[in-house]
Amino acid sequence: MSRPPVAFVSHPACLLHSNGPDHPERPERLRAIRDHLEASGLMRRLLLIESPEPCPTERLLRVHDAAHIERVRRACDRAPAMLDPDTFVSAGSWEAALRSAGAALAAADAVIEGRAASTFVATRPPGHHAESDRAMGFCLFNNVAVAARYLQDHHHLARVFIIDWDVHHGNGTQQIFEADDTVFYFSTHQFPFYPGSGARSEKGRGAGAGFTLNVPLAAGSNDAVYVDVFETLLVPALERFRPDAILISAGFDAHADDPLAGMMLTSGGYGKLTAIVREAADRLCGGRIVSLLEGGYDLKALGASVEAHLMALLA
Ligand SMILES: [Zn+2]
Repeated sequence: MSRPPVAFVSHPACLLHSNGPDHPERPERLRAIRDHLEASGLMRRLLLIESPEPCPTERLLRVHDAAHIERVRRACDRAPAMLDPDTFVSAGSWEAALRSAGAALAAADAVIEGRAASTFVATRPPGHHAESDRAMGFCLFNNVAVAARYLQDHHHLARVFIIDWDVHHGNGTQQIFEADDTVFYFSTHQFPFYPGSGARSEKGRGAGAGFTLNVPLAAGSNDAVYVDVFETLLVPALERFRPDAILISAGFDAHADDPLAGMMLTSGGYGKLTAIVREAADRLCGGRIVSLLEGGYDLKALGASVEAHLMALLA
């Protein structure tokens, strides 16, 4: 039987969310990804899923307080408005946020139902800084966390592993799952750096102790450093946990050209990291990978890195 295609999930409403002029997290990021994949011919090889339903409130409520959801909705009603010194909303942000989280659910469905071998979700706003009760760092709702709970609640998976290679620590995802032994959170990130969390000593708490693995890295870390961390720390953690599916918080802001951070990854490096995850996923969980866009602010580097990421998923 031939392998199902790799899916590319997006929604045009994600272009309608604006943080205001001169903000790095801008609609052009999604256009750059699409333009690059079309120019390279890769888009033709992907299964396109472009009309995901908005995320239902009950799915958001599995990771966020009702008060947080209401706060975001009210801010969008009186847009433009600010939710955090870095995080703004426009008139289109509510729809964008619901489609962004909804796309994560559609991606999960496609992989679990076997229509796709793996998926990449190219949406915004991103999610990994959003905590259960607050928006933060360009993030309104925690898309990857919503997807993890959905895989458990709706698709009855027992264990989900989240790999967060965005250059910033995913404080929101860690906070949501820190006491949970059914969702493993692994993060590589520049440290010390925004948002300040993600020290090696943060390993989860209560029942979740040992189910958070932070690998803080010095500025300037390159492909070789990341590959070593993935081979020596990530793969053994995956083998111990034996997940039923892998989610990736795929930020591409650890690229050497990124204007917000100081890492030295190349687009080819993202391909190598993806190949390591892919090999483990094939061995441990039927290849089930749902990858979601987080950061990545140099448009050229973002397009090339997403291409390398998808090529490794397709290989
Ligand atoms: Zn980031």
